Amino acid sequence: MTFIDTHCHLDGEEFNQDRIEVIQRAREAGCKAIFLPAIDQPSSKRILDLCQQYPGFLFPMVGLHPEEVRSDWREQLEMIAPLLYPQSFQLPLPLERAGGEAAGRRLLAIGEVGLDYYWSREFEHEQLEAFEQQVQWSVETRLPLMIHCRKAQNEMVHLLRRYEHELPGGVFHCFTGNEKEAAELLQFDRFVLGIGGVFTFKKSHLPEVLPAVVPLDRIVLETDAPYMAPVPHRGQRNESAYVCHIITRMAEAYQVSEEEICRQTNQNVVRIFGELNDKEY
Ligand SMILES: [Zn+2]
Repeated sequence: MTFIDTHCHLDGEEFNQDRIEVIQRAREAGCKAIFLPAIDQPSSKRILDLCQQYPGFLFPMVGLHPEEVRSDWREQLEMIAPLLYPQSFQLPLPLERAGGEAAGRRLLAIGEVGLDYYWSREFEHEQLEAFEQQVQWSVETRLPLMIHCRKAQNEMVHLLRRYEHELPGGVFHCFTGNEKEAAELLQFDRFVLGIGGVFTFKKSHLPEVLPAVVPLDRIVLETDAPYMAPVPHRGQRNESAYVCHIITRMAEAYQVSEEEICRQTNQNVVRIFGELNDKEY
């Protein structure tokens, strides 16, 4: 039984003391790949360096997280863009400069990007603009999107609809919504929902919501480590090895075997991100 953790902040300082052991435990638990989302330019660079040390196991994304968007978002994106597009350029990008082949082999996805109005709407407009620019990067590079969305589904869906037919696909990461919200997101047929530790929480409605409206071919597994640790590790630092607890709970909820959860979600990863063996990092 093997699984993939599609969202893990393994570059975070929470892992500075024991990153090697965390990776080792993940492998022993059956994890066959870990995808690393960036939150800003420094983390994008850190992640590229880290993934180079574990080729074929760690896979990098680059992007600007909505909670990191401030008034200087343009400068931020100008610093991230060269990681996507090998040549220097001015925004907005001409299509023929798109990274295409070169970027596609080096990077797994653009992320994490999106909208987050949970704490504040102070940079609401900046978030929208930064998100849209990165959605356009996805269209141009054909790299899928790793999307973070909190208290902003209407705004996000509205923006994504305008690019719906051009986007290569992606993940709505850390989905915790209701049936109606799930159904709305599934209308983007090249996208899947990222499901993590919340699924195992005692009061979570996800074990009812998901089997009712989300077929198993629309789910990928994730930790969002170091956050969102599943039961029985709730409240502790999360890590990729703990995905097995999500698998167990999901198998119960969907009334299928754990192997079937792994088989389906691994297959979904390949559909969204491509064959991992083909990627050279
Ligand atoms: Zn994240």
